[in-house]
Amino acid sequence: MTIGVLKEPSFESRVSLLPEAVTSLVKKGHELLVESGAGLRAFASDEHYRQAGARIVSRTEIMTAAIVLGIHPAEDITSGLPSGTVLVGVYQPLYQFLRMKQWAEAGLTCFSLDMLPRTTRAQSMDVLSSQANIAGYKSVLLAAFTYSRYFPMFMTAAGSIAPARLLILGAGVAGLQAVATARRLGAVVEVFDTRPAVKEEVMSLGAKFVEVEGAADASKAGGYAVEQSEDFKKRQEQKIAESIAKADIVITTAQIPGKPAPQLVSSGMISSMRMGSVIIDLAAATGGNTELTRNNETVVTEGVTIIGNSNLAADMPSDASKLYGKNIVNFLQLITNKESALHLNWEDDLVKGSCICHGNELVNERIKALL
Ligand code: NAD
Repeated sequence: MTIGVLKEPSFESRVSLLPEAVTSLVKKGHELLVESGAGLRAFASDEHYRQAGARIVSRTEIMTAAIVLGIHPAEDITSGLPSGTVLVGVYQPLYQFLRMKQWAEAGLTCFSLDMLPRTTRAQSMDVLSSQANIAGYKSVLLAAFTYSRYFPMFMTAAGSIAPARLLILGAGVAGLQAVATARRLGAVVEVFDTRPAVKEEVMSLGAKFVEVEGAADASKAGGYAVEQSEDFKKRQEQKIAESIAKADIVITTAQIPGKPAPQLVSSGMISSMRMGSVIIDLAAATGGNTELTRNNETVVTEGVTIIGNSNLAADMPSDASKLYGKNIVNFLQLITNKESALHLNWEDDLVKGSCICHGNELVNERIKALL
C-alpha cells in the first residue's frame, strides 16, 4: 500500500516515522511517501528518507496515499483527502468528537492510537505509554534545570545540602518514570494516585505513596482513573496541602480520559511553597492540575514557577519519533495482511477500539455515545 508521512504542524518537532521505520515498511512491500522536510526537526533529512527507500513529495501528493500517518490532527490535513483514505495518528477523539463526525461524513477511515485498549497485546503499539514515558523523564530534567538548588543531598566541607523534595501527583506511565528519574538524581519523592494498585510500584522505586482512603472504584475503566466523590476530593486536598507545603518540586500528571484534568492544587497551596519552587504540569492541555496553570506558558507567582506543558515528548524528538514510529509499524501490521493490503478484522478488540470512523460512519461506541 502507499503510505504517506505528513510533516507535522510548526509547534511539533516529532515525526510519525523515522527513516529506520521507513526501511522496515519498504521491506514489507509498501510504497513510502514522505512530505519534504517532515523529519528535519527530529534530525532526519529528506536524503536520509530517500536512502531508506522513500520518495520525498509535496503535501498534495501525500494526500494520494492510501494510509496517511501523522501525530496531530492539524486543521488542514483532511482537506483534499479522497474518501476511503485511512488516517493513523493521535486525534484525541474523546475531546475532538465533532471533528471525528466530519471525518466520518468525508468518508475517511480513522484510527486514533490514543483509543487502543490498554491491554498486554496493545503494549507494542501504545503511543500514550511510549510518549508519556519520555514526558515523565523530561519533566524531572526540566524541573532540575529550572530549580535553583541541588536535587541530591551533599555533605561538603562548605556545609550540607538537603535533598530536594518532590511531590508527584498521578502515578501512571509519566508519573512512574518521573519517580524513577527523580530518585536517580537523589531527590526524596512522595506520590499520590487514586489507584491503590500503583502503591507497590511507587514503593519499589524508592518513593513514599501517600494514601487517601475511599477512592472511587476504577476497575471498569480499563485501568484509568475515574472522577472522585466530593468527600474524597476534600480529604485528598487536605493531604496534598500538607505534602505540598514541604515540597520543592511538584510534577502533576493526573488525567481522566475524556474529561478535564482534576484540579488538585489550589493557588493557596502554591502560596504555601517556598520561593524558588517549581511545578511542572503535564496535564496542562486538558485544563491543568493546578489552579494557576496556563497551557504552553510559564507562570511565576510569589517566586514559584509553574510550567504548563503537555507536549514534553516533543523536546526529545529523535527518541520520541523512534518509539512512536515503532508503535506505528506494529499497528500497521495489525491492519494489513501478508500481501500488504488493508485488512480490517472487526473481531479484534484493538482494531475495534482504535477505529473511530469507517465507511462514512462513526463506528466507535465511546465516541458515538458523546454525540
Ligand atoms: P493517565 O495519563 O490517564 O493518568 C495519569 C495518572 O493520574 C493515572 O495513574 C491516574 O490514576 C492518575 N489520576 C487521575 N485522577 C487523579 C486524582 N484525582 N488524583 C491523583 N491521581 C489521579 O494514565 P496512563 O499513564 O495513561 O495510565 C493509565 C492506565 O493504563 C494505568 O492503569 C496504567 O497502568 C495502564 N497502562 C496499561 C498499559 C498496557 O497494558 N498496554 C500501558 C500503559 C498504561
